[in-house]
Amino acid sequence: MCGIVGYRGEKQPKDILVEGLKCLEYRGYDSAGIALKENDKLQIIKSVGKILNLEEKINKTKILDSHMGIAHTRWATHGEVNEDNAHPHMVGNTVLVHNGIIENANELRKMLVEEGVVFNSETDTEVACALINKYYDGDAIKAIEKATKEIVGSYAFAIMFTDSDKLYATRKDSPLIIGYGEDKEFFIASDIAAIISYTNRYILLEEGEIVEISDDIKVVKKGKKVKKEVLITDLEADSKDKCGYPHYMLKEIMEEPVVLEKTLKPYIDDIDSLPDLTEYEEVHIVACGSAMYAGMIGKTLLEENSCIRVTCEIASEYRYKKVFYDRKTLVILISQSGETADTIAAMRKAQQYDVDTLAIVNVKTSTIARESDRQIFIEAGPEIAVATTKAYILQVAIMALLSYRVAYSRYETENISNEIKILPRLVKEVLDRRDDFLKIAKEIKDNEHVFFIGRKVDYAISLEGSLKLKEVSYIHSEAYQAGELKHGTISLIDKDLPVFAIITDSDIKDKTLSNLEEVKSRGAKTIVVSNEKIDGYDLEVVVPKLSSYFQPILVVPCLQLIAYEVARLRGCDIDKPKNLAKSVTVE
Ligand code: GLU
Repeated sequence: MCGIVGYRGEKQPKDILVEGLKCLEYRGYDSAGIALKENDKLQIIKSVGKILNLEEKINKTKILDSHMGIAHTRWATHGEVNEDNAHPHMVGNTVLVHNGIIENANELRKMLVEEGVVFNSETDTEVACALINKYYDGDAIKAIEKATKEIVGSYAFAIMFTDSDKLYATRKDSPLIIGYGEDKEFFIASDIAAIISYTNRYILLEEGEIVEISDDIKVVKKGKKVKKEVLITDLEADSKDKCGYPHYMLKEIMEEPVVLEKTLKPYIDDIDSLPDLTEYEEVHIVACGSAMYAGMIGKTLLEENSCIRVTCEIASEYRYKKVFYDRKTLVILISQSGETADTIAAMRKAQQYDVDTLAIVNVKTSTIARESDRQIFIEAGPEIAVATTKAYILQVAIMALLSYRVAYSRYETENISNEIKILPRLVKEVLDRRDDFLKIAKEIKDNEHVFFIGRKVDYAISLEGSLKLKEVSYIHSEAYQAGELKHGTISLIDKDLPVFAIITDSDIKDKTLSNLEEVKSRGAKTIVVSNEKIDGYDLEVVVPKLSSYFQPILVVPCLQLIAYEVARLRGCDIDKPKNLAKSVTVE
């Protein structure tokens, strides 16, 4: 969530910081700011809204000739969205930007106010800034160490002091890397994407480490110097571009065939290289948002095809609830970024009980990738649009493979490797039918409510279809188990209200169709998404029939494209929907 960029080197940092913020804007974007420093001069510029607003303001301002600066794009957690609350914050000698949440901010604020500190914002960040400043007497590392001992919560800080020409950073539960530029040039970033145009060499800052950046880098932890390994990312500078697509969301949906091929290829003839879940009596799938819905597809497939007990839970609930680990349990964590705060907490909870953890993750250097016991990487590449599309599809693909790996029927039925081979091409064929999706989008774009219904795996698909639609188009949408609608919600069905029925599981097709009849007879506009032709309804999408393992991978792209087209027709900010942020690194 939100983003940090910092720079120290020969160049004027302004453009580097602003360009870096633009690359991070997808993570949080309600306000932004930069601080530039040179000798005893400091300049802070902040603005509400998109980075473009900040850029315009900077362009109208006489900029300090400097060689060091920090910048931030905010996703507010404490205090309204306004300029006072935007970062950087400054208290006394200390200037700081922050990603995360200081949980004991209220107590700390009270104590600092009693000591005479006057606050200019409502943020938890300014409290952290004041605390560091309280301990700062010229020894920055000591001050940061002392202050962070008292801070409860999550943070990535980039810090400057008015009387020092060094740059500092530290982190806990929120990622931060340090990039190596040309001679004596260093970057701080909460995501490598922010600095990839300048360098692919970086170090990962670990929890509790403090970096001091001068003409060189020094990393310390608990007073001791730490030796760091310099890593090279394979991310390419141009991967951030839209390649001619009007939106990242569309580009990323269209990339699905390619990333599927890349992700699935290693397993075509070697499915046994995946973990064998039958080693466990119980599997807990834990994730948030779309990743949770990918997990729900996995749960259905595992339960249908093996004898493993599976639960699938929202990480923010799992982390605080009572969980029994009395059977041999595996916790599967699904997170695109690998930095989802609640999923990290769920992982650490399981590890406290010595329970094995398996991560399905996109970002290889992320916290979840590094701290989990085993990892399966999806090869989505960078996903910039806030609403996930290609990463979700790959999460489903991995869950399908894990389920097939342990399926009863594995040695009895035809091998699915042929299906794995043709899947990318089939997805491409489905994606090529954009006109069909546009037609449906036109039919529903003016509605304020939409429902999705389905049973079993089709319910899990419905949840993702519904989430995608509401995320990007702001149409209120809900997914229901088809049989449940009549227990209350059917009261909302009115003439012309769109109801999507997802019907791919032939065993319960007739049951779902009966439920669709119930809403049709109350005037609903019915849209059937199925793997066979079903007549008698207003609109339809038919995709090729596949095994139950891979069927969702042909259906969900249709729903993603319908959501995309609806959002486009309604003129929404598709890649950056309001109030949302990618990579939710706060609770
Ligand atoms: N909690 C801080 C705030 O509300 C930082 C939020 C963020 O991570 O952008 O300002």
